[in-house]
Amino acid sequence: MKPLGPIPAGFSAIDGELAIGGHKASALVAEAGDTPLFVYSRAMIHARMAQLRAAMPERIKIHYAMKANPFGDLLEHMAELVDGLDIASGGEFAQAREAGFLPREISFAGPGKRDEELHLAIRAGVTINLESANEARRALEAAQALGVAPRLAIRVNPDFELRGSGMKMGGGAKPFGVDQAQVATLAKDIIAAGAEWRGLHIYTGSQALDADAIIEVQGNVLDLAAQLSVEVGSALPHLNMGGGFGIPYFDKDRPLDIVSIGSALDERFGNLPDVLQATDFAIELGRYLVGEAGVYLTRIVDRKVSHGATYLVTDGGLHHQLAASGNFGTVVRRNYPVAIATRFDAPAEEEVNITGCLCTPLDRLADQPLLPRADVGDIVAIFCAGAYGASASPSAFLGQGPALEMLV
Ligand SMILES: *Cc1c(COP(=O)(O)O)cnc(C)c1O
Repeated sequence: MKPLGPIPAGFSAIDGELAIGGHKASALVAEAGDTPLFVYSRAMIHARMAQLRAAMPERIKIHYAMKANPFGDLLEHMAELVDGLDIASGGEFAQAREAGFLPREISFAGPGKRDEELHLAIRAGVTINLESANEARRALEAAQALGVAPRLAIRVNPDFELRGSGMKMGGGAKPFGVDQAQVATLAKDIIAAGAEWRGLHIYTGSQALDADAIIEVQGNVLDLAAQLSVEVGSALPHLNMGGGFGIPYFDKDRPLDIVSIGSALDERFGNLPDVLQATDFAIELGRYLVGEAGVYLTRIVDRKVSHGATYLVTDGGLHHQLAASGNFGTVVRRNYPVAIATRFDAPAEEEVNITGCLCTPLDRLADQPLLPRADVGDIVAIFCAGAYGASASPSAFLGQGPALEMLV
């Protein structure tokens, strides 16, 4: 037997079935018309935002990193809840506009921005988080052609990183951001060229569950931002401090202590150096805001026994939930939280393997968990599916196509 990850708080049973946002899983599938189906709970996202606002200093703005989940209805919901949006492509910009975000609320980071993307974003008044000196030059050229002052910030590649982070994006040689030693010179250049200086973006990593690691890195980020601003010789208008708030996916993972993080930040804010006194601060979060509010529902289409092991074969798989299969940035495959949605409160009594419908041994959704006895027609729920699911999985693989999605 192998353990499953912890089912996020907030799910209940109705008539013995998993309920999401007050609706039974089978009813949601009937309403959507088919499986596989991603369901995202409006109420859970709302509650998560409220807890976060309560824990964080009022001064800090909360941005949504939309690469976690760009589903249109969810994005519209986020537009009502957050203070800003972080995008990483022209395609995301179009989706963000559609969802009602204003260009002034949007910042555009990400390596490899094309001239057309820079042009479009600068024309609209989006803040560009510059990833290199070359990109700065191209942004200034685009702005000159448009006859506007571009809103430019610099993404810093800091010399430190977020300890215990799932995916490291700072520290040492990286394709992201401008090395910290080169930031001040570049900042002076773009200010001299007439850009509207929008400050710094310092993102150090992702999926951290250790509050102390986040507190430490936020302290380092504030110190570095102050040091760079002194070097630039002007007060810092805006600091995107990054994020990295993680969620528990696996057995023994514990929820992040956001109250400690908030009170440490509060203390720092009470004691800021001159160059940061008037700074507008933001954190950018993806999975923390939406990850636990999503469930992937997939139906069992076959039940078979091979060499004594029972397999429940579903109509879903890694083409929608790459991360749950263990093939998206994890070294050792571990089980996500999984349940039989249609037998949610039945006792666990058999060890099974839940696999997807793809013809590859990589397509494993749960290895040897103990679950209630399930059969063809039952619906399996994979939790923590609200981030990096539908949009981060290879849905065209094996001709399967995308899953359905709904916000309830
Ligand atoms: C991916 C990314 C995020 C969001 O990461 P989460 O782990 O989902 O919070 C935030 N900022 C940047 C720059 C990113 O690349």
